[in-house]
Amino acid sequence: MEQHCSEPRQRLSFAGGASALPPEVLAEVRDAIGEWNGCGQSILELAFTEHDFTAIQEEAEADLRALLALPGGYRVLFLAGGAFAQFRLVPLNLLAAGDGAAYVDTGLWSQRAIEEAACLSRVTIAARGRNHVPPVATWDIPADAAYCHITGNETADGVQFHQFPTLARAPLVADLTADLLTAPLTVERFGLIYASAQKNLGAAGLTLVILREDLLGKGREGIPAPLDYARQAAAASRVNTPPMFALFVAGRMLKWLRRQGGLEAAAERCRERSDLLYAAITASDLYRCPVAAPDRSQISVCFHLANPALEPEFLAQAARRGLWYLRGHPARGGLRACLYNAMPLATAAALADFMAEFAHTHRHDI
Ligand SMILES: *Cc1c(COP(=O)(O)O)cnc(C)c1O
Repeated sequence: MEQHCSEPRQRLSFAGGASALPPEVLAEVRDAIGEWNGCGQSILELAFTEHDFTAIQEEAEADLRALLALPGGYRVLFLAGGAFAQFRLVPLNLLAAGDGAAYVDTGLWSQRAIEEAACLSRVTIAARGRNHVPPVATWDIPADAAYCHITGNETADGVQFHQFPTLARAPLVADLTADLLTAPLTVERFGLIYASAQKNLGAAGLTLVILREDLLGKGREGIPAPLDYARQAAAASRVNTPPMFALFVAGRMLKWLRRQGGLEAAAERCRERSDLLYAAITASDLYRCPVAAPDRSQISVCFHLANPALEPEFLAQAARRGLWYLRGHPARGGLRACLYNAMPLATAAALADFMAEFAHTHRHDI
């Protein structure tokens, strides 16, 4: 058993989530499940209101603030429910009855956010882009919009904002589930950012909400307390038991990111990984990437085969090489490689090598 655990793992995952974790972080997590910090308890057994746990939470927040150079006036909430829950919680917490908001639609996750918000509030589509980010000069944000929502990385479509706009009209609200902590961020541009943790920040179960203090308390009456930003901000995210284990893992990931050189270094690693794959795509007529070159995602590389009949063979041969979960999002089809923070460059290189070989073998099958 011991021996089995110490063997290098053979399954390199390109899945949409959860993501791979760095071996050092996994080792820390294993230790902490045995006993946390000599305290006589497993990390899973801590009392959420007592110092052993609150210190973990405070340190995670301090590391997050340091990594993002978070300006004063922003609050950090550690919530449960995933980014999908925020699609409705954002309008519940930011819009009073009758208020409206603007949304930029760049793909599947934008559309899901729009559907959830439209159940509650007036929603205006400020701009729409397919396979590209619509230029900010074309966005039509109504004067009375309480915020403008964007999706930083469209994980199913492979489209990414590489620059975020400064909006004068309305606070910018962003789903950064797939791209938070993959590059430095000018947080001052945003009124609110949310991201679930299982892509770049550890384990599923935790969702970060970072928001400007002045946006607290603007929403509806009757929001369940654990989902109410103002109540959670007043209670240090401990209105009820927070997702403690995922928060611990996120804390380890934040320290790992700092040790790896912070967000500048993370951004460089994202560029290197995705450059390898886009080079493999560009090198062969077998591969097609529909996304406009400047807006191609460095986090979720979406592509398809010129001859889609070859896709099952591509997936099967890749898996035989240990390259797993390259099927595109079920709503989009095709192929996709997600390259989150913890992925070593060698993993992306192994996929790029496989793609070159596969393209060579099938050069007459296009
Ligand atoms: C994965 C993803 C989500 C969904 O996250 P959950 O934590 O499963 O709710 C939402 N938005 C984006 C951009 C994503 O990549």
